[in-house]
Amino acid sequence: MSVVIAIDGPSGAGKSTVSKELAHRLGIAYLDTGAMYRAAAWWVTRAQIDTTDRQAVAGAVRAMDLSMPLDPFHQTIFMDGDDITKAIRTPEIARSVSTVSTNLAVREILVSRQRAIIHDAEDGIVAEGRDITTVVAPDADVRVLLTASAEQRVARRAAEVRGGTDAQALALTRGEVIGRDAKDSTVVDFTEAAAGVTTIDTTNLTIEEVVQAIIELIPAERRPAKRGES
Ligand code: C5P
Repeated sequence: MSVVIAIDGPSGAGKSTVSKELAHRLGIAYLDTGAMYRAAAWWVTRAQIDTTDRQAVAGAVRAMDLSMPLDPFHQTIFMDGDDITKAIRTPEIARSVSTVSTNLAVREILVSRQRAIIHDAEDGIVAEGRDITTVVAPDADVRVLLTASAEQRVARRAAEVRGGTDAQALALTRGEVIGRDAKDSTVVDFTEAAAGVTTIDTTNLTIEEVVQAIIELIPAERRPAKRGES
């Protein structure tokens, strides 16, 4: 019996950390859909395609040879044989990704790839992003929207991307996080939970508390055997 867990939320809400831990704990696959949009942005930038040329961008994304890892703790991403794991996490990609992800033709291509990956995950999967609970997998067994206060989200991203939370790191990160969320939310709603989606505010919760809260949402008959059990 496989379980599909869909997790959405804005940047810095804790999606990746929680989703990876959850997938590991349950012994199921993990899909980072944000990495797919970042890879698409990297691909069109490298091909020197004008990111505002919607048709050219969609054509390039349709042709890209992206291999997505599904092991939560081995997230090496390959594009056309090149390891792009680090290259897609730069501030430049963070700045350009929304222009690519708000291209509706790009979304159609990537959503269909994401659905195929989820469909093929025999033991189950945790998929995280912005539109998993609403568009990619609205029939998932568990649908969660993770939120956190803006200050907390900015501080988490500053620590992750700039290695600290001093005033300068916070100021630089604030513009990036808030600006990206504003652009992203022009095409998908990840601030209000859709019907049937459980909101978890992670501001004052530990990772463990969030993971446990999500495990409790899994219907008993869908709960994978714990690691080590047969
Ligand atoms: O999750 P992460 O911050 O890595 O996502 C990078 C970008 O990918 C987001 O800012 C958004 O533009 C896009 N994205 C999306 N839909 C998703 C996941 C990510 O548009 N399901």
